[in-house]
Amino acid sequence: MEDEEIIEFIKERIKKQRLEDMNKELREWMEEHGIKLQEEKEEEEKIEGKCEICEIRDAKYRCIRCGKIACMACFWTMLGICKECITEKQMKELKEHYF
Ligand SMILES: [Zn+2]
Ligand SMILES: [Zn+2]
Repeated sequence: MEDEEIIEFIKERIKKQRLEDMNKELREWMEEHGIKLQEEKEEEEKIEGKCEICEIRDAKYRCIRCGKIACMACFWTMLGICKECITEKQMKELKEHYF
């Protein structure tokens, strides 16, 4: 993935994340005020097996880009992307330049 592509991708992710946070707050506020929302069922995927990156720890997440399952140490939970798709070095550079 080209750097520019990665940056765009991360920006999109962050935007989405913020929106989700906002929705959560809104939901909580509505619950507090007794406003019933239609139950939305979030299908949470059960991830089983070893991390496909380090092959040592149990996987807990699935990369939204490559689809591999990864443990916490091999995954950018904020982005939903594994560290094989975005390396720590790339992430460090991105953070320095864009955040
Ligand atoms: Zn791992
Ligand atoms: Zn990946």
